[in-house]
Amino acid sequence: AVPLVVALSTSLTAKNGILIRDRRAFEQAKDLTAVIFDKTGTLTEGKFGVSDFIPFMDEKTVLKYAASIEKNSEHIIAKAIVEFAREKGINPIDVNSYRTIPGKGAYGIVENSEVFVGSPFMMKELGIDISDPQIASLQKEGKTVIFVVVDKRLAGVFALSDRVKKESFEAVKKLKEMGIKVFMLTGDSEEVAKAVSDTLEIDEYFAEVLPHEKAEKVKLLKEKGYRVAMVGDGINDAPALVTADVGIAIGAGTDVAIESADIILVKSNPADVPKIIKISKITYSKMV
Ligand code: ADP
Ligand code: MG
Repeated sequence: AVPLVVALSTSLTAKNGILIRDRRAFEQAKDLTAVIFDKTGTLTEGKFGVSDFIPFMDEKTVLKYAASIEKNSEHIIAKAIVEFAREKGINPIDVNSYRTIPGKGAYGIVENSEVFVGSPFMMKELGIDISDPQIASLQKEGKTVIFVVVDKRLAGVFALSDRVKKESFEAVKKLKEMGIKVFMLTGDSEEVAKAVSDTLEIDEYFAEVLPHEKAEKVKLLKEKGYRVAMVGDGINDAPALVTADVGIAIGAGTDVAIESADIILVKSNPADVPKIIKISKITYSKMV
């Protein structure tokens, strides 16, 4: 028979929109010492809008090239860039040799020009100089800066901003009060990671983490002796969710993340994480 406390906790979690897929993982939640949050879509809304655009060559051409590349990508940043170009009356055209460069950006050939659209990290790899006071000030504002390179020359810069979920403040504060160390993991740049981390008073963050490295970071913390929960929403988060002692997916996340998780936050509320730990402690500490 199911012990009474467990039955009660099941209705308590269900009422709070916390879906338990793996009971053993839920039981382990009481012993957690570290929680790692993915940034985009987990601690932030994950809804990007282009706030600034600086062209270094003919504006319409840069927009057309960037939008044409991004039209092929599923990334939320890509969607925002396509939308921004559309609002300016620019429609994407066909691209040859398109490829995504996971965690960095995308590439393709548009009207015989080689076009890259992507992160500061990608620029470093391409050997493109991005030191510019205008760019630095956008990064200081905590905006995600995306570069357009046409035939090996910097052709334009987009700045995009996302919003921190208001519930993220409560999530971090409560976890720290419980003596749990809070980490943040992101593929985004060092500057953006630092801005979000400072805002939320996160203990430690890892920036410019490539998709395949997310699970390795979880493993690293486990090896250091932490009992780790990973909270994420994206396709890229799935291996990390599986690697963690407790994998928690955001309800509004991708199917892959949800299928890889032990627990699902139906309300997509990061503040449900300390709640889970509390309910797990109440449920399982009384069963001796
Ligand atoms: P996150 O951990 O924030 O979900 P991703 O691994 O999806 O990040 O992406 C990491 C970074 O790579 C993004 O912040 C962005 O700079 C860049 N990037 C990825 N895909 C694209 C794209 N299609 N267009 C532009 N930039 C991209
Ligand atoms: Mg994400």
